[in-house]
Amino acid sequence: MYNERQKMEAPQKKRDIRDLSLDELRAELEAMEERPFRAAQIFDWLYHKGVSDFAGFTSLSKPLREKLAGRFTIGALELADKRASADGTTKFLFRLHDGEFIETVLIPAGKRLTVCLSTQVGCKFACAFCASGLHGFKRNLAPSEITGQVLYLQRSIGLELTNFVFMGMGEPLDNWTNVEKAIRIMNAPEGLAIAARRMTVSTAGYVPAFKRLGAFDLQVNLSLSLHAVTDRLRDKLMPINRRFPLEEVVRAAEEYIRSGGRMITLEYIVIRGLNDSLDDADGLAGVARRLRAKVNLIAYSPVEGLEFETPTDAELARFKRRLEERKVNATLRQSKGSDIAAACGQLAGRFKRSER
Ligand code: SF4
Repeated sequence: MYNERQKMEAPQKKRDIRDLSLDELRAELEAMEERPFRAAQIFDWLYHKGVSDFAGFTSLSKPLREKLAGRFTIGALELADKRASADGTTKFLFRLHDGEFIETVLIPAGKRLTVCLSTQVGCKFACAFCASGLHGFKRNLAPSEITGQVLYLQRSIGLELTNFVFMGMGEPLDNWTNVEKAIRIMNAPEGLAIAARRMTVSTAGYVPAFKRLGAFDLQVNLSLSLHAVTDRLRDKLMPINRRFPLEEVVRAAEEYIRSGGRMITLEYIVIRGLNDSLDDADGLAGVARRLRAKVNLIAYSPVEGLEFETPTDAELARFKRRLEERKVNATLRQSKGSDIAAACGQLAGRFKRSER
């Protein structure tokens, strides 16, 4: 029978060592009565050499390797499926340790090779045009599951990844503790050594996000997903707007810029007949000018089960021209990978038969 004594002796669940920042690992080593400088050596094995078994950490003593193996695991994402688009985009479906799935997208464009990273399984915010929120929120990703997406791609494709956007499944600022730690590990020279300016965090307008990012010492880029310029429409398209209305979001963004944050980019998915009128363009120009922001226009990509429409090239061009007439710097960003449901708003954490 399972008695109290056995209960006390029950083995503790091991943590993934890649959930620890460098400072946390130093503290753990001290608690284990080991020298803290070993943390940098362990990071080197984990992130530079990519060794996923403590026995392979040959610069460490055997007793220390055994101690580490007794306390920690080194998890890895398991590739469940992979799809390549005709435009060069590749979507990866990863199975997590608890059977949940996430998607990561690799987007080549000229000399850039951008990775779109997921930060949550599902999403709480249920934007009307987005597949990620369709099935609700399951859980936050751990830091190791966020950096794990980068590590997997670095190892498997053998090409240098140039840009890292936290725009996959989930609202990154709603999982800030883990996203922040993942960014620190990605940025640390002992970690993945990725410059902060090559990372972009996006938000759907989660107001506390601006304060959090404003206080963050690493100069990552911030992108605000706007998608509508009236509360009436934004309430419908992005329910987060009912909690944080447009004016409150724009004021928080202004404050973020005033307090020394980097320039903001506005993302705007153009949906035919819904947010693509010249009045919408004028409203968007007003917000962009207040924030001195650049605008990325993205044509809506169809999501199975949703009835929104993609604008024509001419409609997009007219919208963009209007922004330019209002002296706003606007780019028409090709939303890549729509044939494999890898484009903006299409990530659902599962592959459908139609994508095969
Ligand atoms: S657009 Fe972003 S915030 Fe909105 S449901 Fe999709 S993942 Fe969530």
